[in-house]
Amino acid sequence: MPAFVKVAFDVPLPEAFTYRSDAFPEAVLGRRVSAPFGRRELTGYVVGELATCDIDEALVKGLSRVVDKEALFDKKSVDLATWMAGMYFCGLGEALAAMLPSGRREPGAAALDAEILEMAEAPLTLSAEQSSALDRITSTPGGIHYLYGITGSGKTEVFLQAAEASLAGGKGVIYLVPEIALTGQVVEAAQRRFGGRCAVIHSRLSPSRKLAEWRRILRGEAQVVIGARSAIFAPLAKLGLIVIDEEHESSYKAGNSPRYHARQVAMRRRGSEGATLVMGSATPSAEAWRLMEEGQVGRLELTKRLSGGALPAIEIVDMRGEDSSISGRLAEAIRDTAKAGGQSILFLNRRGFSYFFRCKSCAAEIRCRHCSVALTYHKDRNALVCHYCGYRIPPPRACPECGSLDVGWAGFGTERVEEEAGRRFPDLKILRLDADSTSRVGELERILQDFREGKADILLGTQMVAKGLNFPRVKTVGVVLADTSLNLPDFRAAERTFSLIVQVAGRAGRFSPDGRVLIQTFRPDSPVIRLAAQSRLAEFYALELSARKDLGFPPFARLVRLVFRSKDKAKASMAAADFAHAASPYLPQDAEILGPAECPLAMVAGTARWQLIFRAPELRDLHRALGLALAEWEAPSGVRLETDVDPASLM
Ligand code: ADP
Ligand code: ZN
Ligand code: ZN
Repeated sequence: MPAFVKVAFDVPLPEAFTYRSDAFPEAVLGRRVSAPFGRRELTGYVVGELATCDIDEALVKGLSRVVDKEALFDKKSVDLATWMAGMYFCGLGEALAAMLPSGRREPGAAALDAEILEMAEAPLTLSAEQSSALDRITSTPGGIHYLYGITGSGKTEVFLQAAEASLAGGKGVIYLVPEIALTGQVVEAAQRRFGGRCAVIHSRLSPSRKLAEWRRILRGEAQVVIGARSAIFAPLAKLGLIVIDEEHESSYKAGNSPRYHARQVAMRRRGSEGATLVMGSATPSAEAWRLMEEGQVGRLELTKRLSGGALPAIEIVDMRGEDSSISGRLAEAIRDTAKAGGQSILFLNRRGFSYFFRCKSCAAEIRCRHCSVALTYHKDRNALVCHYCGYRIPPPRACPECGSLDVGWAGFGTERVEEEAGRRFPDLKILRLDADSTSRVGELERILQDFREGKADILLGTQMVAKGLNFPRVKTVGVVLADTSLNLPDFRAAERTFSLIVQVAGRAGRFSPDGRVLIQTFRPDSPVIRLAAQSRLAEFYALELSARKDLGFPPFARLVRLVFRSKDKAKASMAAADFAHAASPYLPQDAEILGPAECPLAMVAGTARWQLIFRAPELRDLHRALGLALAEWEAPSGVRLETDVDPASLM
């Protein structure tokens, strides 16, 4: 019986604290406890047991209470959390808090099991390509593979059969999908195949249901865990396989501290637990593409569409000279579709800026001379600003490319598109899907269900809809303005735009070979848009990777981003400058600091945001240097610091 335990709390401190536990023999590793911390009483995680005290015993306090009757995690989870805390510069308890469900045990929580059907559907007979991919996966345990194939090429079936093989070998499976509500078919397929051995974990589950699923995994009742990002932490005793479906999706990166990437955590678990990792997508991330090119990740290609249906024709609509956000051609396609009883989807890009500065004659946009990212127009200050390095210029009077004087800012906001759609199609029913409606539990599902049942003619939504496009009646898909994401001040802008177009087209054509995809753009000649419309993937990746290499962006460099937030703008900018100064002596020679600069999202909820971007060819030395600087540096009062290793977005 341990007399002392180490407890980690959900606070930004790297260490765990020692407590006397002799009054609580049940306070063992893996359980949550309540204990006095400073002047407060906090719930923490028991991460270690000690027979003898490791600090001055006179200073040690006793635990107040043990929360759990069963362990919530094991030693492996503690090891993973320790790695997370080091990698992402967060506290050990913060890492555990991100990994574990937080719910309380409720009597009714286990009712979930009854819903799960105990049926085992037979696997499909694999095509030759699928079967050779599966052979490679099962014959190289511990390997990293990439299933690269267009939408409908049967990746899911290969994942499911690889999962079966893992289970047959007595090992569990984690199957990651980007967003549960939009990947319902995959979840259903897995449940049909694995019945009660399947656990589903996602953010929409109530805390108590999440905890119930978690416990089924801990007890070994569920061996296939399917879920979004956080399912990567599932406490499977023996992990044999990790599947990352739609690997390119940005939702695999956490938006709050610790800002982990599920792919990175998967790599770590593969290494420490000897699991096989299989990723898959029709549009791999640039990082993954490079790993395949270098042979570090095995490429398994599926070239045939098993779902039937050809890829639809993709039309590029030149928006130069258009006044409306919905061009004549798109409007006509929507009307024809509705007349024939079909449905249309319009994609907006809400994440993007509504406004950017461009030449109305040649569509050139103004880029930073130092960073080559698009400058953002600030109307209030009448300035074009680079949000990487802080470079700013007054808006030019003439286009630097063609000399035209017809330059200015433009853009289509969501509201404007919705309003115009309503005006243009007064007789058609429009459903709208946006971040607000999707934050309410069940709302997203309801809207998608209504649309699937034909209760509306047009669905207006952000790119998130692209993932779940399984609407048999959809004949027309319009991307309202591809440039919105292309012009983002982010080095991944081209990659995201490309992938959006290819994904939208692939899914749209799944059910309707006669389907149409229209891409509206002010830059019809942009290679990104052209190559996407023609599905010329290899050429796009070659072009994109060479640009990244020239500019020194990932995957040819690693970035760490620090954001300094404060109600007081001057404080935020001064703290950023101060940290840059403090960190400089530690940095390796080949590292550089971009900034301080205002974040592209300069104000969020009344809080000013300034950033530093650290860049180096390799992460190791840069990471170590920042660890030292962060440990030493103290944020001034009123300033909060966010750290982001390998940031997915620089907004
Ligand atoms: P992807 O995941 O690559 O987008 P899916 O796994 O959804 O593609 O497969 C597309 C369709 O093809 C599905 O309806 C699936 O049932 C079917 N399919 C997959 N593999 C086979 C196969 N070996 N034989 C027949 N149909 C298959
Ligand atoms: Zn011009
Ligand atoms: Zn710049």
